[in-house]
Amino acid sequence: MNQPTTPTRGERIVAYLDAAITAREEAAHSAPRGPWSVRLDDDAVVAPDGITVAEVFALGGQQTRAILDLIALHDSTEVLRHCAADRKLIELHTPAEWPSQASAVCLTCSDWNHNVAMGDDSASAVPFPCPTIIALAEGYGWTEDAR
Ligand SMILES: [Zn+2]
Repeated sequence: MNQPTTPTRGERIVAYLDAAITAREEAAHSAPRGPWSVRLDDDAVVAPDGITVAEVFALGGQQTRAILDLIALHDSTEVLRHCAADRKLIELHTPAEWPSQASAVCLTCSDWNHNVAMGDDSASAVPFPCPTIIALAEGYGWTEDAR
């Protein structure tokens, strides 16, 4: 009978990333497609078909323009592109299979040189989760305290 195993730190981080990316993908799929642009006549961000995505009101004209530009730069197409790129990075930096008793290693970050091929992988192996996975997760709001 298999006992349920406690997820490793790396597994928890990758699960966190998957949930965070999925939430953004779902929101982006529900929003008008991009690219979005700024329409200064009425301080709005609009989709390519002219549909108003957002209207902005801020205390100052410069602040209004900055917010309009920020929204337009984060249109649904851009969000989906970032999510796809981040999923590729996660795949590159997550070991597909690893013996349960061994420490997982990021094969992309590890220096896979002759010494490693000869069995001396202790000096150049980068443990999973590697700095790339941790940095990605931090970008989505993950902290060591996140569950
Ligand atoms: Zn890595």
